[in-house]
Amino acid sequence: MSKRVAVLTSGGDAPGMNACIRGVILTCEQRGYTLFGYKHGYNGLLQQEYIPLYSSNTHNLNQQGGTILHSARCLEFKETESAILAAKNLKALEIDTLIVIGGDGSFRGATHLSHYWNGQILGLPGTIDNDISGTDATIGYYTAIDTAVSSIDKVRDTADAFERIFLVEVMGRHAGFLALSAAVASAADYVILPELFTTESEMLANICHQIEQRRKLKGTVSFIIVVAENVWPGGLNKLADSLTKRANAEVRPVILGHVQRGGSPVSQDRILANTLAHYAVNLVGEPTTNVMIGMVNGNPVEVPLSVTHTPGKPLLKSTLECMQSIMNKRYA
Ligand code: ADP
Repeated sequence: MSKRVAVLTSGGDAPGMNACIRGVILTCEQRGYTLFGYKHGYNGLLQQEYIPLYSSNTHNLNQQGGTILHSARCLEFKETESAILAAKNLKALEIDTLIVIGGDGSFRGATHLSHYWNGQILGLPGTIDNDISGTDATIGYYTAIDTAVSSIDKVRDTADAFERIFLVEVMGRHAGFLALSAAVASAADYVILPELFTTESEMLANICHQIEQRRKLKGTVSFIIVVAENVWPGGLNKLADSLTKRANAEVRPVILGHVQRGGSPVSQDRILANTLAHYAVNLVGEPTTNVMIGMVNGNPVEVPLSVTHTPGKPLLKSTLECMQSIMNKRYA
């Protein structure tokens, strides 16, 4: 029997969510499934706000940033009554499979829903933070790295011109994936990550030592420090103040902010989005449920939703060692 599938995008938006929706639409159409898109994340499920999706909706979608279904945070979805209402609405629309494109919070929401709805639930990892366990990368991560790197390159031009110290804050929520990758790719001089954070005084001493060593070798020079968001106690301005006093230099803080969420997805995100979407739709009607489709070593894998929000996904060891070696040995 032809299946009825629904898809939604939830939580922090990420470039490539549209490419993922496109992959879902096209594979559903190939298989003869009826597809609906719930709008505004879990809010759409609660308000029964949905649109039918057809291949005519996919024109230029692959390269478009954002999400045509819109995303949202829906705090009330944590309540039991909300999950019961969502289940009722899904049954009313006779949905067999719900596909959730989002981050670990969205997958917590999907798990919550699964206690009240016995349809099939499949997750697809969409977040710039790459902080989801069970997948090497998430949709939007590669684009966000490129966006951060192109901004840091520009900061470097002005930093060099004035021989200043710049702090550049990149997103990542509580994980350092984006900051680490952006730091390596932009040849930053230092990176501050939650995974490497020790104490304020120890880290300040280390940064000042690096700046001092470089000054001895080259005189007054620029120095770029990439800082993961939420890591420095008191925020970036506090770090800038402390460093201004300790390093006796002009320090400028730059918070990249939401630009990192926007833009046309790079090809890696488009490929990831389409591949995972295609794999997910091929699971429709199978007994597999409550899993996220991740990518490990270039192959799609099925990861229980409970695993996706296990904290402590490790940074890529080789990239971390590369950055640490640059930070600690370059001017030693
Ligand atoms: P992300 O999916 O990007 O991690 P959030 O953490 O904000 O983003 O989660 C997105 C949405 O998922 C929340 O606004 C809420 O609707 C839902 N959600 C998150 N955690 C839970 C939970 N424990 N129970 C039910 N719903 C949740």
